[in-house]
Amino acid sequence: MMFYIPWEAGWDSPALPTTSGYTEFQAPSLRRLEKPWGRIHREGVTRRELCRLLPALCLWGARDLFAASGSGAGKVFPTGPERIELGSWASARSMRLNWQRSAERFEVLGQGTRGNFSGEIDSRKITIRGVVCYLSYPIALMDERLWIATGDLAKVMMPLLFPAGRGARGPGSSLATVCVDPGHGGKDPGNRHFGLLEKELTLKLALTLKPLLEKSRFRVVLTRKSDRYLEPEIRPVLARKAGADILVSLHFNAVPRIGAEVRGVETYALTPAGHPSTNERVASTRTGYSGNRHDAANVRLAFELQRGLVRTLGAEDRGVKRQRFAVLREAPVPAVLVEGGFLSDYRESRLISQPAYLLRMAEAIRDGLLAFVG
Ligand SMILES: [Zn+2]
Repeated sequence: MMFYIPWEAGWDSPALPTTSGYTEFQAPSLRRLEKPWGRIHREGVTRRELCRLLPALCLWGARDLFAASGSGAGKVFPTGPERIELGSWASARSMRLNWQRSAERFEVLGQGTRGNFSGEIDSRKITIRGVVCYLSYPIALMDERLWIATGDLAKVMMPLLFPAGRGARGPGSSLATVCVDPGHGGKDPGNRHFGLLEKELTLKLALTLKPLLEKSRFRVVLTRKSDRYLEPEIRPVLARKAGADILVSLHFNAVPRIGAEVRGVETYALTPAGHPSTNERVASTRTGYSGNRHDAANVRLAFELQRGLVRTLGAEDRGVKRQRFAVLREAPVPAVLVEGGFLSDYRESRLISQPAYLLRMAEAIRDGLLAFVG
């Protein structure tokens, strides 16, 4: 049973184009939800509410609504995606929600640091074990409680907090085959700033990364080893043909306005089917792609790489984000796209131009891959 929240509120951030031509927005913020009709109590649905809900019940069936409102653990929101009450979800998993009524921020504490995450109300941006991640839908406040979308629990929280199994093949002499994809090439230079070409830097990074991974018993294949043009769509095909277990596409970012003070690293995983990407208010498509078979592993791979990059480089953490990039859509294996920094930021571009910095970036990606395969 799905209703939709009016997402328009709070979308006043400037649009920033990213490397691959998508328009990126800052984290969308949904102002506090107006109650579209009366209260829905934890104990159940009042008679007046029932009258108002009758048309919807006729259309959609009453089972979900009664099951959800009666249990107290979860309920169907009158608008927006289906959500579950965060405190109940956390306590069912031996975690504790810390939130003072009407405070803007909350935190959920697990045993040790494993389950810890925090965020702001009306925001999609949360911090999990010290890494910024973007949910598909904001944490919402309603009836003085916090609500999280069930889609985000399934596609972000559960894979990251309670991962099932290993991320890639483990046994044997090699950990896994990694397909490293240096973005752009040939007639497609990618971003160009301060005398730097993205296509050259992605290749340098890939060639730095390859021996590091091989020393760590990964098998490595590159989609290109020279300044050669490849369609984005062909890259996952090459990964499949090479028998890869993991695909990592390397890129460097830019904004059109120099001096915009936009810098830092971000890692993209494919948007789950039917969810909005990080730059969208509502999903532009409900289509799923073959890359969505790896949703859980995709987000875990993105998380581990982003964690490694932020820790090692000390760069600004722009987070684990979602896009339907061509290189990710039909990926036959867990796949991510790394944006290693902004060439349009003078200070960051100077760092990226240094081989020592690219070596640290490669070490960070290796560490993230090692954490991913367990
Ligand atoms: Zn790029």
